[in-house]
Amino acid sequence: MAVRIDGKVISGIIKDEVKAEVSVLKAEGTDVTLAVIQVGEDPASTVYVGNKKKACAYTGIISRACNLPEEVSQAELLSLIEELNADVSVNGILVQLPLPKHISESKVIETISPKKDVDGFHIQSAGALLTGEPGFLPCTPAGIIELIKRTGIDITGRECVVVGRSNIVGKPMAVLLLRENGTVTVCHSKTRDLRSITKRADILVAAIGKPKFIDASYVKEGAVVIDVGIHRGENKKLCGDVDFESVEPLAYAITPVPGGVGPMTIAMLMKNCLEAAKMQKG
Ligand code: NDP
Repeated sequence: MAVRIDGKVISGIIKDEVKAEVSVLKAEGTDVTLAVIQVGEDPASTVYVGNKKKACAYTGIISRACNLPEEVSQAELLSLIEELNADVSVNGILVQLPLPKHISESKVIETISPKKDVDGFHIQSAGALLTGEPGFLPCTPAGIIELIKRTGIDITGRECVVVGRSNIVGKPMAVLLLRENGTVTVCHSKTRDLRSITKRADILVAAIGKPKFIDASYVKEGAVVIDVGIHRGENKKLCGDVDFESVEPLAYAITPVPGGVGPMTIAMLMKNCLEAAKMQKG
């Protein structure tokens, strides 16, 4: 039986660490505030935003809700972001994605001040990540590194395979594993003979967006398997990109869905908000 990497427990520890530091800042007269912009009323986005607000309430971070109608213009959204950039009482700005089709996500992300880019999606944050300069790390891959390290797994020298190359998960994940001295391979939809590569992995990260894609035939015995995917199956049950039942018996450690990577993303967002406030305080 594989070790189950418990994202609920580990994210709880991180949120408690953040809560303790937020309360110290509060006692010194500094509040930590996150502005959360939601455009429209997409039900999934509403759930994600709700979970982020709950985590803010738990950690003592003030969440300022900015709800805009679906038909808001790009110019109006950008001008709200500019206002929040200039507002010294706001430490972090989060725009819940996806946005309606008439709004350019990249333009929106570029408009957020890199000093308040707590999602870590700004091109300046991406550059800092690549070159090892200080900057906000994207929450999901940063959370995965915490999961691995806090489970006592050493990344140094291990063969790490990331399946997926998106800007928010796959690419930053690969860079962070490299930063931890892993030997990293990135796979994608054009990769030839995917199985032969994933079967080499000591640490396998699946960020594909396809339910239960990675079964036992893709996994080496004794591997650490991190499942980033989130899907709602036919029976409304959540599942990931990994076929948990098939992979668990041969893995050394595995993240479940739900309760693995998901809660870590939110905990790391809280951590980034705290870092933003500390940095802005000087
Ligand atoms: P994207 O759709 O942006 O990227 C998917 C990646 O998988 C692409 O790089 C694609 O390759 C690759 N891919 C698709 N099919 C195959 C295949 N058959 N073989 C190999 N590679 C393939 O997804 P995201 O990175 O945004 O998200 C991935 C998953 O993680 C989703 O399920 C998403 O819901 C979930 N997610 C979960 C989060 C959490 O907090 N737990 C946070 C963010 C995402 P190519 O580039 O060639 O198209």
